[in-house]
Amino acid sequence: MSDDAVQHAIRELVIANRILAREDVIDDFGHVSLRHPTDPGRYFLSRSRSPVAVTADDIMEFTLDGTPLEQRGRRMYAERAIHGAIYMARPDVTSVVHHHARAVLPFTVAKLELKPVFHMGSVMGATVPLWDSQDEFGDTNMLVDNMPSGHSLARALGQNATVLLARHGACNVGRSLRAAVFTAVYTKENAEMLLASLPHAPLSYLTPGEIAKTSEMLLSDMPLARAWDYYLARAGFSGL
Ligand code: MN
Repeated sequence: MSDDAVQHAIRELVIANRILAREDVIDDFGHVSLRHPTDPGRYFLSRSRSPVAVTADDIMEFTLDGTPLEQRGRRMYAERAIHGAIYMARPDVTSVVHHHARAVLPFTVAKLELKPVFHMGSVMGATVPLWDSQDEFGDTNMLVDNMPSGHSLARALGQNATVLLARHGACNVGRSLRAAVFTAVYTKENAEMLLASLPHAPLSYLTPGEIAKTSEMLLSDMPLARAWDYYLARAGFSGL
């Protein structure tokens, strides 16, 4: 039974990698992880590989400090500290996506707040904090490649669903793999929508009440199943 749950989790994670690549959230870089279904002290993440090409054999198991259970010579993502540190800080989180979606990047560069401007964008949350590695670590190679930076990033995320990394990218988290993928896709879509609307300011944004009610509705089973179905078909997995 436990083996079945693990096999299912690995399969879903492979599909999530392909979906996020198909939806242009992650490209040659970026990654998605899933907490172990029966051991909250572990998570699954691909070996260092472009997500569009990830297969079940690439999926590795890690303890939250980033130690692989069985490395088998596989190269690991330098930024896996992001995942472990967030799982440590957020027991409610089951999945983490880290990406450099192009539409999101201007919000990590300019003094421009990323806020929900259409209903689907509500899932990224009312508050999207910006974490700057300069604040605690000064000049670095910009990668979250050690646990102290991971913990710092997780503190910036706080109880939110999304955190921006200054001059780098973003992370989205979810109570489920589907919720995290959905949130990442609509963070990108909302960023695109906001950028397209900016020349026509002043803009109207969702109110905090609209964000709370709409995101709760969208992150429920039916909308997530509907979106997953759509993503599966677009990624070439329909009819399985
Ligand atoms: Mn990165």
